[in-house]
Amino acid sequence: MNNTRTPLIVGNWKMNGTLESIQSLLTGIKTDTETLNNIQIAVCPPAIFIPYTKDMLAKTKIAWGGQDLSEHAKGAYTGEISGPMLQEYNCRYVIVGHSERRMYQQESNELVAQKFAAAIKANIIPIFCVGETLQQREDGITEQVVGKQVDAVIEHDSCALLGQGVIAYEPVWAIGTGHTATPEQAQEVHAFIRERIAKYDKKIAESIKILYGGSMKPDNAAELLAQSDIDGGLIGGASLKSADFVAICNRANAQAAV
Ligand code: PEP
Repeated sequence: MNNTRTPLIVGNWKMNGTLESIQSLLTGIKTDTETLNNIQIAVCPPAIFIPYTKDMLAKTKIAWGGQDLSEHAKGAYTGEISGPMLQEYNCRYVIVGHSERRMYQQESNELVAQKFAAAIKANIIPIFCVGETLQQREDGITEQVVGKQVDAVIEHDSCALLGQGVIAYEPVWAIGTGHTATPEQAQEVHAFIRERIAKYDKKIAESIKILYGGSMKPDNAAELLAQSDIDGGLIGGASLKSADFVAICNRANAQAAV
């Protein structure tokens, strides 16, 4: 962690939850993070629960966001949700290019770059996910893959636009698998991402937040968050239990105070 970048902890609930379960989850998070002033916190519920989340989190410091958006602002795109729609519900963030969407919806680097631009246009901060598969890591091409993912947004949009977002490095082999990257493995790729951006713009490379995601849990969060280029976490499984999510927020808050 670096004290010039305020840490951000984001819960990605994926396709989980019922009105009843998210009421208790949000109540727990709301109550138990009230005194944490050194970090920013956000949750990304399934789209249908965004209006309810907005009502539950009104008057708190916790932000909310979408898990995806269309690259288009409106039109005949059945099933899609646009940036302006998320904006109407005061979403501060939207996740773009999550590996599950790259994998199951075949989202390309080009499409992710379009979605990134659509989010910025709607005044929403994109949380732009990058990361390599296990095969790519074993083939020794992690930097090549992640570098290409980052370049796609810079080349399609611009480095200045990238600088308005947040990056999440999420090794695909660590997502939902219980296999976390070691703090050193994560730090190495985070530093690489920052160097890659510095080739275009040093100031943006220094100021952009780069979160780690991939089986982050209360018992490994402190070590990961202690790395100088890790500015927070994108949390999947552990964000569905308020005690776990709050414990990660507490660790980040304590480390940010140092
Ligand atoms: C994610 O899907 O963004 C994620 C990091 O999931 P998990 O924490 O469950 O690995």
